[in-house]
This record gives sequence, structure tokens and C-alpha cells, in this order.
Amino acid sequence: MATLSADLNGNVSFPSSFQVSNCSSNPNFARALSFNSNSRKLHLVLDLDHTLLHTTKLCNLTAEEDYLKIGTHPHRDVFVLETVITKLRPFVWRFLDEASKMFELYIYTKGNRYYAGLMAALLDPRNEYFPSSSRVISCEDHGIVGRYKSLDAVVGCNYSNVLILDDTEEAWTEESRDNLIVVDKYCFFRHKMGLAKSHAELKTDECGYLAALLEVLKVINRVFCDELARNPSGVDVRDVLQLFGNNC
Ligand SMILES: [Mg+2]
Repeated sequence: MATLSADLNGNVSFPSSFQVSNCSSNPNFARALSFNSNSRKLHLVLDLDHTLLHTTKLCNLTAEEDYLKIGTHPHRDVFVLETVITKLRPFVWRFLDEASKMFELYIYTKGNRYYAGLMAALLDPRNEYFPSSSRVISCEDHGIVGRYKSLDAVVGCNYSNVLILDDTEEAWTEESRDNLIVVDKYCFFRHKMGLAKSHAELKTDECGYLAALLEVLKVINRVFCDELARNPSGVDVRDVLQLFGNNC
């Protein structure tokens, strides 16, 4: 598991001693090359709530957030859907577009299938990034509601070729956590977030986090692809990720 944190401007930073050019000579990376990989393109599993968006019930809006119901506010990425309101994380459409060029994308939420479908339609209105139902995994797909998320529920990938982005490490099985990048939680509304004032109340928003995270993913993908080109049968993305998490 690697943790990426951001400064106040949303800039994500690597461990200070990490240098991509050093990877091939790193003993950890040499060990990674002894592992097998069955796929040449990485998969990226994306959590929904507090990772790509923030949803709350309309009845949970504070008086200062109530203006969002009207629809004349400046946010073009706020959606009122039946009894809930959803705010997409800034840059998320561009993030998905760029990420889809490097990864096979999946949504994986502990929410139900109906909610997952609604959110997928907001994130991917042209059905480009999650083109089949198997790319959108909800609680009905991974068993009992409340059970841990597991990469075993993600069709078409194995542990050596998949990354996870999620704000909650505890949501995942132990064996899935080596594939996990824990992201900063995106909070727009105030309800239960412990905020003195929410972005919605202040009419502000997070700035730059997903853009910086995308750059991190580009580096991880480049390292993985470079090593795969050198050794087509022996790269495990968990070992690439460990180079970041272990502050090598
Ligand atoms: Mg979450």
C-alpha cells in the first residue's frame, strides 16, 4: 500500500529520494522482475465516493449549501439525482480520459448497482471508459453487503497487473492492499465530514489533486512498461508500487 498526500494546492509528491532512473538498479526492482505477468496493460480500479466524487442526500445539505439545489450555481459538475446530490471531483473527466489511454478502467464501489450505474453515467456519459457492465462493480457483484472489496471480483485482471485508487484502505482485503494507492479524501459537502466550513458553503473547491495524481500514474505506468519491454514475462506492479511506498 502506498499513500500519496497533497499540499494545500493539491500537489502530490513522491518520496523525496525516489528517482525513476534508479529503478532498474534497485534490488527490489530486480526481485520484481522474477514475478510473472499475464497481461501487458495495467488495470486501474477506481473507488467512487470520496475518490472520484462526493455524494450526499439532499436532506443533509446545510442552509448555506441549499443554493446547490437550484441549478444556477457556477458548478457545472454538480448533479441532483432523485434524493441525492453529487459533486464530481475537479478534473475527473480529464483524469479518466488520460488514464484510459494507459489503463483498463474499472469502477468498484460498495454502493449498490443502481447507484454505481448512475455515477458511471455522470463520469462517462459517452460510455468510453467503462464500456461494459463488467467494468462497474457494485456490492451485488462482490457478495454480501458490507464485505471487504477484493480484487478477486475484478474480471480480467490479476494481482500482478492492477492498481487501486481508494480513499479507504480498510475497505480492501489484506491481499488486495499491496495494489492500493490511498488517495486524499475528496469532501465537498459538510455532512459528517467534520468540517468547520465545506467547499460548498465557501463556494470553493479542491485544486490540482487529480491532475497531480495523474502524473504519478504516468510515472508508474512508464516504469512498468519500460521494464515489461525489457522482460516481457517478469514484472509485477506491486513491486513497482513498493518502490514508491517504501521511500526507496
Ligand atoms: Mg471511498
